[in-house]
Amino acid sequence: MSNSDPQSLYAIPMPAIPALPIRGTDKLFPVRRVYCVGRNYAAHAIEMGHDPDRESPFFFQKNPSNLLYGKDFPYPPLSEDVHFEVELFLALKEGGSNIATSEAMDTIFGYGVGVDFTRRDLQAEAKKKGRPWTAAKAFEQSAPVSAIVPAADVPTLASKKIRLDKNGETQQQSDLDHMIWKVPEVIAELSKQFELAAGDIIFTGTPAGVGAVEIGDQLDCEIEDIAQLSFKVTGPAAI
Ligand code: MN
Repeated sequence: MSNSDPQSLYAIPMPAIPALPIRGTDKLFPVRRVYCVGRNYAAHAIEMGHDPDRESPFFFQKNPSNLLYGKDFPYPPLSEDVHFEVELFLALKEGGSNIATSEAMDTIFGYGVGVDFTRRDLQAEAKKKGRPWTAAKAFEQSAPVSAIVPAADVPTLASKKIRLDKNGETQQQSDLDHMIWKVPEVIAELSKQFELAAGDIIFTGTPAGVGAVEIGDQLDCEIEDIAQLSFKVTGPAAI
C-alpha cells in the first residue's frame, strides 16, 4: 500500500469532491457545503404568502453534488411544478462561527449566479405536513451555476440588477439592494447556526417572479456586471 495514493486509505472508492471553475484561472473551487437563504426579498416573500417583515433569516441546504455546471438542466422526476429561482451565490475562502458583520466580506472568495430549482409541489406538501424541504430542494442537479468570479474582480454589489429570462422574456428582475438580509448579514447570521469554512457556497435568496419550467425552455440569468448563466431544460432525468 502506497501512502502517496489517497485512495489506498479508504475501504470504498473515494467520492469525487464537487468543484467549480473560477473565471480567469485554471484552478478549481472545491465545494464543502451548500447553504441557501429562504425568503430574502420582500416581494418574493409576499408572492409565496408570507409576511416580508425582517424576521431572522432561515436556511436550508442542497448537496455539493447537486451543483450543475456547464450542462443543461434535466427535468427532475416526482414533480409537475418545477420552479426557477435565480440567485446570487457566494463562495467562501474562510469561515468560522459568530462572524461579525463588519468582517463577513473578508470571508468571500467570489460570486456567481445560480438557480435554486425547487419542486414546488413537493415543497407545498412538505410545508403542509411540517416536513423538511429536502426532496423539494436537494434533488439531483437542482442547482445550475455559473463559474465563480473572484471577489477581486467585483468592485461592488451595490445596485446591481439580478434577472432571469425564460425563452427571451424577463420573469424575474430585481436589484441586489432589495435583499432583506444583505450579503454580510447573511454570512453573520448563518455563522451563528453553523461553523462556516472555506469551500462553502451560499445562495442568497430569490426575488419575485418565480415560475414553472417546461422541457425545451431556455433560461438566461444575469447579475449585472458580475456573472451570466444560460442553459436549457431538457428531457427527464434518468432517475
Ligand atoms: Mn431560493
